Amino acid sequence: MNCIFCNIINKQEAAEVLFENDKIISFLDIRPVNYGHTLVIPKIHYENFLSVSYDDLSRLIEATQILCNALVKSLEPDGFNIVANNGTAAGQSVFHFHFHIIPRFNTDEFKFRPMIKKYNNGLMKEYADKIRLAINS
Ligand code: 5GP
Ligand code: ZN
Repeated sequence: MNCIFCNIINKQEAAEVLFENDKIISFLDIRPVNYGHTLVIPKIHYENFLSVSYDDLSRLIEATQILCNALVKSLEPDGFNIVANNGTAAGQSVFHFHFHIIPRFNTDEFKFRPMIKKYNNGLMKEYADKIRLAINS
């Protein structure tokens, strides 16, 4: 398996590393949406959110908060997004799970503007029932 993020962890590939501990590494995204766009990843290769162990997920969240604090302090953005793409349909291109932290500015041109759907005739409950059933099965 050739994984660019594993190569960064193993120092076979260069990266602008911001933070590292026994479980987690964080570095700047090479194609930033805004300057300071940061990736936070577990050192173990997990393909997506669902496969990350609970312990590593906790450590990942902890590191993500440390990085968000540092970005807010250093870059003074107006806000930030934490994003995780899971699956090609969702825009995932590197299949080693990671959180993106994107500093956001009132003036930036980056917009999440989806076409909003409307639930008609009990469809909302239908979806909720389906999901609730999966939680309990
Ligand atoms: P995804 O599309 O999987 O959610 O995000 C993968 C991210 O990894 C992309 O934003 C992309 O710019 C970044 N990326 C891909 N290859 C490299 C690399 O070699 N170095 C760094 N620093 N970032 C990378
Ligand atoms: Zn990997």
